[in-house]
Amino acid sequence: MYKCYVCGKDFQDPTEAAHCTLVCSREAERKLAEQKQQALMAEKEKRKSEVDQAYKTYLSLEKEYRKDYGYTSASCSDPFVTRFPFSVLGL
Ligand SMILES: [Zn+2]
Repeated sequence: MYKCYVCGKDFQDPTEAAHCTLVCSREAERKLAEQKQQALMAEKEKRKSEVDQAYKTYLSLEKEYRKDYGYTSASCSDPFVTRFPFSVLGL
């Protein structure tokens, strides 16, 4: 009796057991790679959310600064910031 080393299925023929082990190993590797990819995507989304939140906080602070002093802070001279449509974030 021969066994697949991955799923434990029994075979009479050692070649069939080896084939099953190979197929099961590739499937296990594929699942592991898929899980790693999902974890990376989840981390990316989490970090994007952190950046978005920090940016909204920044815009809010900048808006308060402008309201109190009548002009933007030096950090607001960044071309990206000055071109960014503030209305998109409801600010
Ligand atoms: Zn197997």
